[in-house]
Amino acid sequence: MRIARFDGGRIGLIEEGAIRDISPVLVGWRPDAAYMNDFIAHFDELRPTIATYAASVAPQALEEVRLEAPVPRPTQLLAAPLNFQAHRDEMKGPLTAGAGTAAELGFFVKAAGSIAGPSDDVLLPDLPDRRFDFEGEIAVVVGRAARAVPAERVLDHVLGYTILFDMTMRMTETAREERTMRKSFATFSPLGPWIVTRDEIPDPSRLGLKVWRNGELRQDASLRDLIVDIPNLLARASAVLELQPGDVYTTGSPAGVGQVHVGDEIEADAPLIGRLRLRVAQRPW
Ligand code: MN
Repeated sequence: MRIARFDGGRIGLIEEGAIRDISPVLVGWRPDAAYMNDFIAHFDELRPTIATYAASVAPQALEEVRLEAPVPRPTQLLAAPLNFQAHRDEMKGPLTAGAGTAAELGFFVKAAGSIAGPSDDVLLPDLPDRRFDFEGEIAVVVGRAARAVPAERVLDHVLGYTILFDMTMRMTETAREERTMRKSFATFSPLGPWIVTRDEIPDPSRLGLKVWRNGELRQDASLRDLIVDIPNLLARASAVLELQPGDVYTTGSPAGVGQVHVGDEIEADAPLIGRLRLRVAQRPW
């Protein structure tokens, strides 16, 4: 299944370029952002009802709806630091020397308030002396709570997969804010376009991702090249804290990250998931 959120918190299934609104069959459906976590917590038991209902719903063209972040307010938004060797190599320098990789460093946290959706612009704050980068990444959405679950079994706790741009303000020689803050500006975690459930992607190492900036191919990667693969990212995180339904874990960026400016367009395509195309704009506040 491809699960989307749209038009003020409605939940829909994507099929052949169209969306079917399943909100009416969801008992207790609410438009607020936190509802999606409840929906995900009950997804396994809801699934047969959803599938039956969706078959009876008239499809709407995707162009007629406004897609929103599929998980707008996860309890936890975790992220892998350097998790592709080629990206680690491109980041070597005085500001990252000795930084290690996801294997040694584990995860970092982005504020969930930085999440935006597929129809939102990425908004750059008015800081003309600072550099802002895109990092295209595959993200995992947790389906069932996971505490101390070994890698061999942890995929059973996954709802599915989506795309996340880990937008980042880089440090300078003199400005070295916490990574969490530099990556947590509002709209700095665009997520989408929807979640593809794990039954459609039994082996997530088969996922690939391409990213373009203004039409120029910048990133082209396979998750086979992750330093720490998805089962081990999740298993290790679940040994630190309990992963919650709806939690998002973004797996780290491949090589080819680059700077964005107001007016740019960034686009990510994961063939097994979908495309996420975003404009970069000036933040109006
Ligand atoms: Mn990243």
